Amino acid sequence: MPESTHCIFCKIIRGNIPAIKVHEDDHTLTFMDIQPASPGHALVIPKTHAANLLEIAEADLLAATRTVQRVARAAQKALAPDGIRIVQTNGTAAGQTVFHYHVHIIPMQEGQRIGTHGRALANPEELKALASQIRDALEH
Ligand code: AMP
Ligand code: ZN
Repeated sequence: MPESTHCIFCKIIRGNIPAIKVHEDDHTLTFMDIQPASPGHALVIPKTHAANLLEIAEADLLAATRTVQRVARAAQKALAPDGIRIVQTNGTAAGQTVFHYHVHIIPMQEGQRIGTHGRALANPEELKALASQIRDALEH
């Protein structure tokens, strides 16, 4: 059975489990992290399954990176954070918990001391509102 069969992010891509989407194109999907480290925390994933940076095909890596820049610019415009942290984990020892390549986009405020992972599930209505603010700020 292919690895993607049980992969939670592949299930999101297939529409088998819900996600609050920010942006989608032919090669990437961006959605809100369900357990955000800070408001506006989003994840960018390639649509083709690859476990991590070591395995991802170059074309998917480039597509994902392009989307990361677009969404980070939109988050900057929409939410005006003091900074944006970009995090990408490879392997359990590095803190990876979902084994489908993903890039965290985490808006940061001055003095904020947070990790990559939030401690609690977010309110879906708040996630939807943040997703639409970021979506509206995307340049086409
Ligand atoms: P990492 O620990 O770098 O592998 O990051 C995985 C991220 O995926 C964590 O921040 C989780 O909160 C997030 N996550 C896990 N399942 C879901 C889901 N169904 N929808 C949205 N985000 C998720
Ligand atoms: Zn996958």
